[in-house]
Amino acid sequence: MSTILQAKDLCRHYEVKKGMMGKTQIVRALNGVSFELTPGKTLAVVGESGCGKSTLARLVTMIEEPTSGSLTISGRPANASDRELRQTVQIVFQDPYGSLNPRQKVGSILEEPLKINTRDSAATRREKAESMMRRVGLRPEHYDRYPHMFSGGQRQRIAIARALMLNPKILVLDEPVSALDLSIQAQVLNLLIDLQKEFGLAYLFISHDLSVVKHIADEVMVMYLGRPVETGDAQTIFADPRHPYTKALLSATPIADPTKTQQRVRLEGELPSPLNIPTGCAFHPRCPIAVERCSVDTPLLRPVAGREVACHLA
Ligand code: SF4
Repeated sequence: MSTILQAKDLCRHYEVKKGMMGKTQIVRALNGVSFELTPGKTLAVVGESGCGKSTLARLVTMIEEPTSGSLTISGRPANASDRELRQTVQIVFQDPYGSLNPRQKVGSILEEPLKINTRDSAATRREKAESMMRRVGLRPEHYDRYPHMFSGGQRQRIAIARALMLNPKILVLDEPVSALDLSIQAQVLNLLIDLQKEFGLAYLFISHDLSVVKHIADEVMVMYLGRPVETGDAQTIFADPRHPYTKALLSATPIADPTKTQQRVRLEGELPSPLNIPTGCAFHPRCPIAVERCSVDTPLLRPVAGREVACHLA
């Protein structure tokens, strides 16, 4: 199936000033990220907070522009003033409490995008809102309720319903289940899988937790300090991670099979500041197998056993 979004070498840098007279420094939040999204498929972007995944979400949703690189959506260059393109990409945030207006009733939350972007009559808007409520597992008779009258999982269903009101082709899911209890997480993930099948949606699923994306991801991109370090087919990476950072992230996730044991790979130290990215391989100060070359030479992504890895020793 043809791709709906192509990102090539995306970079996003921010200038920050230290104090009134201070020197301007550059925060390199994103440093050369390329990927594609396909209808009906999920690309999971995984890494610790500060790895650049939220910056990536802001670029894909056209909230911000890249410093360099290109982003094409539906064959057109991404451009925030292109209204049709903006409707093509919608986002669901982590916090269903903060992302819904507490003073707005559910019906009005769902109808708002239609009011702004379509000429639908009030009756049609209501019909579409109730139908979407049904589709995401909410009861249409709760149309006049306020967000605080729903549970966390139900609120996330409202946020998903709102994101779907304009028939988008791409959903950016920014840690969509991280604030929910484990049992509720599974329900919301299953709903997302069903909706993807029904509407042929392309998902960019952002998470700090590899275990969350395991059942939903077709492709995975593991990021470290603004760069992809391992990217490719999800099953291949889960079965046999090749980058030491992916191995560390995976070893920190619980495994369901009690007959299997796994060795925990501990990550030493904190994630360095994107203001001061280590030379060579940015992961070298924390890498358990680093060699001398790693602090000097920057490893580039290269094909390794059916996926791409940026590591000299992979
Ligand atoms: Fe570790 Fe070196 Fe590979 Fe970087 S290049 S991940 S420091 S072994």
